[in-house]
Amino acid sequence: MSLGWSRRALVETLVGTETAIDFSIPLAELPRVAHEVSARDGEAKGSVRFSRQQHQAVADLEVSAQPEVICQRCMQPMRWPVNVKSRVALVSDYDAADRVPDGMEVFLVEADSVSIRDLVDEEVMLALPNVPRHAEGSECAQRVMQLPGEPEADDAADEAQVQKPFAQLGELLKRK
Ligand SMILES: [Zn+2]
Repeated sequence: MSLGWSRRALVETLVGTETAIDFSIPLAELPRVAHEVSARDGEAKGSVRFSRQQHQAVADLEVSAQPEVICQRCMQPMRWPVNVKSRVALVSDYDAADRVPDGMEVFLVEADSVSIRDLVDEEVMLALPNVPRHAEGSECAQRVMQLPGEPEADDAADEAQVQKPFAQLGELLKRK
């Protein structure tokens, strides 16, 4: 069965024929991911295989990509490696989503059909961090350590205040 990654196909057909496809999709062609990345180069590569598992239509999906995102500490571009392997349950409504066995991700299918593009877009989105940052120990992290501001000190002050009433109560009890 020939199926391009951009074409939508009926879930029943994909599952019934146990369609398996290798893909290589430009990140710029993934609608949600394209908005999150800072460079429109690169691609998401991997494979998908549709089947029925535990009475559930699933897609076994492997995706790897190196999207460029902006570090929110130093505001410089960085590559965020994505390597995911997941079993995705393809469901058509929220009731069906509730019945999905543990260990599967859930993908809500529209009009009983799905494209590999949609699945990959979702997987890469899930793998992207909300707030991308260079790793601890990197030059970027060390630079921030030297800045004044010290949020830790503020936290300590808050904690001390919260504990105060209890300390006073302790004093009261001692006096009795
Ligand atoms: Zn950084």
